[in-house]
Amino acid sequence: MNTKIFQIKLKQEILRHLKYSLGKDQGHSTPYDWRMALSLAMRDMVVDPWFDSTRKTYEANAKRVYYLSMEFLIGRLIEDVAINLGFEDVARETMRELGQDYSRIVANEPDAALGNGGLGRLAACFLDSLSTLGIPAYGYGIRYEHGLFEQHFENGQQIETAEGWLAQRNVWEFERPEVSYPIGFGGHVSESDGRTVWHPAETVRAQAYDAPTLGWQAKWCNTLRLWAAKPTRKFDLESFNRGDFLGASAPEALARTISRVLYPDDTTEIGKELRLKQEYFFTSASIQDLIRRFLSTNDDLRNLPDKAAIQLNDTHPAIAGPELIRLLTDVHDIEIFEAIDITRKCLGYTNHTLLPEALERWPEHLFARILPRHYRIIEIIQDQHLKETGSNIRIIDHGNVNMGELAFIMAHHVNGVSALHTELVKETVFGDLHKVYPKRIVNETNGITPRRWLYSCNKPLRELINSTIGTKWPDNLERLKRLAKHADDASFQGEFRAAKRQNKERLISWLNERNGVTFNPDAMLDVQVKRIHEYKRQLMNLLETIAYWNEIKENPTKDWTPRVKVFGGKAAPGYEVAKQIIHLINDVAKVINNDPVTKDYLQIIFPPNYNVSMAEILIPASDLSEQISTAGKEASGTGNMKFALNGALTIGTLDGANVEIREHVGAENFFLFGLTASEVVERRNEPDYARRAIEASPRLYRVLNQIASGVFSPEETHRYGSIVQMMYESDYFLVTCDFDSYFDTQRKVDEAYKDTKLWTKMAILNTANVGWFSSDRTIKGYAKDIWHTKSLY
Ligand SMILES: *Cc1c(COP(=O)(O)O)cnc(C)c1O
Repeated sequence: MNTKIFQIKLKQEILRHLKYSLGKDQGHSTPYDWRMALSLAMRDMVVDPWFDSTRKTYEANAKRVYYLSMEFLIGRLIEDVAINLGFEDVARETMRELGQDYSRIVANEPDAALGNGGLGRLAACFLDSLSTLGIPAYGYGIRYEHGLFEQHFENGQQIETAEGWLAQRNVWEFERPEVSYPIGFGGHVSESDGRTVWHPAETVRAQAYDAPTLGWQAKWCNTLRLWAAKPTRKFDLESFNRGDFLGASAPEALARTISRVLYPDDTTEIGKELRLKQEYFFTSASIQDLIRRFLSTNDDLRNLPDKAAIQLNDTHPAIAGPELIRLLTDVHDIEIFEAIDITRKCLGYTNHTLLPEALERWPEHLFARILPRHYRIIEIIQDQHLKETGSNIRIIDHGNVNMGELAFIMAHHVNGVSALHTELVKETVFGDLHKVYPKRIVNETNGITPRRWLYSCNKPLRELINSTIGTKWPDNLERLKRLAKHADDASFQGEFRAAKRQNKERLISWLNERNGVTFNPDAMLDVQVKRIHEYKRQLMNLLETIAYWNEIKENPTKDWTPRVKVFGGKAAPGYEVAKQIIHLINDVAKVINNDPVTKDYLQIIFPPNYNVSMAEILIPASDLSEQISTAGKEASGTGNMKFALNGALTIGTLDGANVEIREHVGAENFFLFGLTASEVVERRNEPDYARRAIEASPRLYRVLNQIASGVFSPEETHRYGSIVQMMYESDYFLVTCDFDSYFDTQRKVDEAYKDTKLWTKMAILNTANVGWFSSDRTIKGYAKDIWHTKSLY
């Protein structure tokens, strides 16, 4: 369509929605109204590609991917839809004609924060790539009423408040009251005439809400189906009329609790009954739904594996195995061992962590009480596994039901999320099962969608790339390699730096407006944003910052490289050490930022409430990416990929996908430091390793003394006594052992940053060489190795 005509049509549609969908007069419309009207106008344009994709899938009776994930960390959608439809410029211009600022309208949308961090963001990137590649797929998850909590700071401490994205209408979803399934809990199991019947004690209803997930250039559109819990029983009018108002609403309140909140725990397992109910709730609804869809066009459930590839994003939906077996046997009369076989041919399981505290285990009595039928099925799966393999690995062990073992045994493939992680999965968590099933574990290194993480969030760099290598790269990211030959070119370098500068200026005005802070755009922007966790070692970054501050103070006239240290991230509400680290960062920031001697060289910024939208502003502005986890602990990381793609250099350990990023960008364009995964294991066996490391490092010794003596908390000198003590006495994540190597490498970073040409060249080579980390590549890998699904266009 001609742009001018398109613009006129879009304008008419926006005004029509403003009037007829929102009931608002143009003269009295708020940014919210304009955002709704624009979104609705855009949503209308998604419906046809959506229907076309569904129709093609049915016509081909194609195999579909079902991606089951407890979390989808989506962020905003309005720009995503605009760029996939290819009318971002038209939308901007149309809003301008209507007297509205497009960027402000876009920023009015709340983030869909239905996830904690990397795992949920990966699921969102995968939806984008599945649609971009034209692979028929459903994402299945929970429509949480409250997403991840909002983080505020009070006197430097984290305060959590409830997030409320559904307080406003969610324009992207379509409610499906007609699509709902009963979900049972508790009760007992009986046998009659050779049939097993589960009689649940309570039942809730899972109701579907569908959101179209549009791919690049709108060539394909899949569905994200999220389940909300609703009561099965009708409203109890009798109680109400008796005056028992609370009693009348009790069943409804109880049911709704299940999809009320996202658990805010990242990589630690909480083992709470409600969590188990959430997991079974969305898994059962999804399995019932995909069986219904299969039977609408097929008749023999024995062929389900030809039509359904079910992927489990971590063990949260691992109950999918027993649930599918239950439905095949109890409802569809398939013999149980055949049902187990069919189920295994459908299931793939992605492992996301090696941290022992993150592996899901349910107390046996709790599990058997909530899911008695599934408990029995698990016993049968376990017996068969023990008999057929001679293995002694049990699913039910020491009074626990182990979801990792269940997922492994019930999946035809198990994958790790980076090369290193996959090898460690084979050696550690699933070492014994790997010996029994040596072909089951495969690797699929994580990726990120370049549409959101470059095309949309970094417009200055996008334009430079377009004008240098053309516009075919967003769905073929390896084309970025063509930038490499310009890495030394002075004029290209100048433009590359100008793009970075624009992004920094955008960040400065954003920070200024939100938090009233600014920074020097010539300074190196050194960023660590991710969940706050001991293994990610924000503490090591902070200790190094203090050491650098000490160094500057001792010799304030030297030509120090000015740095702005940015921290961002949330701590799980019950994770005390992580919360103390947040408090310490804020306390240190207060002292350092007010030091007149060092203020030209060092500044700390910790904007609260890190989320996808903040990442989209911070990452394009960054010079240095901190990926400094204890080797062997970060399964992959995806933040590391976002930074490298946007031309930040990495300082990092040989952990997760850092290893592969370094291979792709070249060792000379990556600042490596620290112990390797195997050295970490060895060091832990040495007695008193932490104390010895501190005694060998005068710099570190001094920094720890400063913290312990209250330099950063004069009003409460012992505030951080326990953290310092922990550094001396346990330091499980080896902050002390890697400190010197980290400090020295940071000084090499300083030197490199002073050499502008060298730094720019390295940055360009990072962007040019990380095309492989597109989630399109990852999804092609899953499709080929695990799902055996094809693109339908
Ligand atoms: C990418 C992303 C993450 C994951 O970051 P890691 O550095 O890989 O832990 C977490 N949160 C948000 C908001 C993200 O966008």
